[in-house]
Amino acid sequence: MLHIVATPIGNLGDISRRAIEVLAGADIVAAEDTRRCRALLTHLGLSRTVLAYHDHSDEHRERELIAELQRGRSVALVADAGTPLVSDPGFRLVRAARIAGIEVVCVPGPCAAIAALSIAGLPSDRFVFEGFLPAREAARRARLELLVDETRTLIFYESPRRVCGLLEDLRAVFGGERTAVVARELTKLHETVLSGSIDALLERVLADAEQQLGEIVVLVHGAAASLDAATVNSEKLLRVLLARLPLSEAVDCAVEISGLARNGLYRQALSLRDAGAAD
Ligand code: SAM
Repeated sequence: MLHIVATPIGNLGDISRRAIEVLAGADIVAAEDTRRCRALLTHLGLSRTVLAYHDHSDEHRERELIAELQRGRSVALVADAGTPLVSDPGFRLVRAARIAGIEVVCVPGPCAAIAALSIAGLPSDRFVFEGFLPAREAARRARLELLVDETRTLIFYESPRRVCGLLEDLRAVFGGERTAVVARELTKLHETVLSGSIDALLERVLADAEQQLGEIVVLVHGAAASLDAATVNSEKLLRVLLARLPLSEAVDCAVEISGLARNGLYRQALSLRDAGAAD
């Protein structure tokens, strides 16, 4: 069995009882940074075989771990911190394990993106995790341009060295008025969470060198929906579209035009069709 084990993002007290049990029972613990992994295991009073695993550099190690799993040995994959596979190695190993018919089991726990979202005070019903943007400015801005109309809350990971650069790019592309949050050193001694307009955050972070240190998640409020949902007459919209298009295309167009939820529009379209609205 391959276990994917989440570990703390700062506060070691956040390790789950089940994570400890699984690590204690694993024949092999796979980790990107074996030194950090051993430090965690030592903290937990455990001594296990630790092997280095990176997604891209080491196909040989991937085959070795799959072979061990096929031999019936148990492997636990951990990240340096947080949930493996979330901006961390593991995807290729999990995919290979699934292809080989090996059971893959999660041991859920801390994740910086979700921790930040849970305290940011930004809409959390729908969100987009963008991970790290490209390091080069032109590529970063190009990526942000693609997100300018995104209405869901955006979540980015960023290195402290580039946090001012990211805020500058956000201001250039999204405008300085948009609300954002800089969540820093979560669960650690110097945790801070700053919230405000991108303009205000940039000013604050530039003025305080401490805000340019540590581990950082940046969240941005989504763009305002192009139409205010309350002003959309969805019945009229659907009647016009159903008169010209098959039902599912009409619903797709209505979703795109109005920004309203597909489920509701689909149900409404079905009842309009059944009532003969498209005739
Ligand atoms: N797999 C991890 C997870 O589940 O969150 C993320 C790993 S990624 C390589 C590391 C990035 O996560 C950092 O650069 C930072 O953006 C974010 N991060 C990790 N720990 C954090 C913390 N305690 N506070 C704020 N951000 C954190």
